[in-house]
Amino acid sequence: MRRHSITAKMLTILSIIFPTAALALPQHDPVPGGIALVTVRSNNQVRFNQDPVMVLEQEGQYIAVLGIPLSVAPGEKYLDTPDGRVAFTVHHRDYKVQRLRIDDDRQVNPLPRDLERIAREREEMTQAFTHFSHPNTVETDFQLPVQGVVSSTFGLQRLLNDQPRAPHSGIDIAAPEGDIIIAPSPGMVLASGDYFFNGNTILLDHGQGLITMYCHLSSLEVGIGDRVVASQTIGKVGKTGRVTGPHLHWAVSLNNARVNPELFLRESLQPN
Ligand SMILES: [Zn+2]
Repeated sequence: MRRHSITAKMLTILSIIFPTAALALPQHDPVPGGIALVTVRSNNQVRFNQDPVMVLEQEGQYIAVLGIPLSVAPGEKYLDTPDGRVAFTVHHRDYKVQRLRIDDDRQVNPLPRDLERIAREREEMTQAFTHFSHPNTVETDFQLPVQGVVSSTFGLQRLLNDQPRAPHSGIDIAAPEGDIIIAPSPGMVLASGDYFFNGNTILLDHGQGLITMYCHLSSLEVGIGDRVVASQTIGKVGKTGRVTGPHLHWAVSLNNARVNPELFLRESLQPN
């Protein structure tokens, strides 16, 4: 008991000496679909390909937290800042191929009338993913939104019924239907609805272009505009939309780039 109180006291002193020591940045993994942490001189107007980029302060330094789109080719890239361009290097990453069998052919080759809906929903998603808000703090230290087995990792090159499709832009966590999904960190509900591919979906805004998405839910427990705290229930696992079974598709976006959610977790996940 006494040892605990001494530890707590020491932590308090440490947090006074190092006020930013507790801030956990996501992992630096400068590959397509990864994150580049780049030291910059200003905390505003940092851009990548015109998109505003998150900047956090750590130990008196400004760190740009850039999401690197999966479509970016490896090589030297630049951030545009008020003090000029800042270079960083994107490295190569090999992502595995995954073959999936979808029984409902309409989910693989949508009907003409579905295409209109899909285009409208894609536009809605782009609007949400380019949203850039300025809350007082941005918490990038995430809890896992649901307990389960990772059935598909991030970045897999997908073949649906032998047809090439966009790479997997999130991770799939297999869990029983009805299991509770929690918010990984504080945020606000930016969008929610029933989408053609994603089924019942929630998007959370955590600030500075950090948006998380939860798909295929059986029920939504929050509505647009609701503020959520870390570990608050936001919905339940389901199998709505294009799925092979109940799971959570969890996507994380920074500056409109879908990045590997595992870079925001303290522990690495065990793929099955
Ligand atoms: Zn998925």
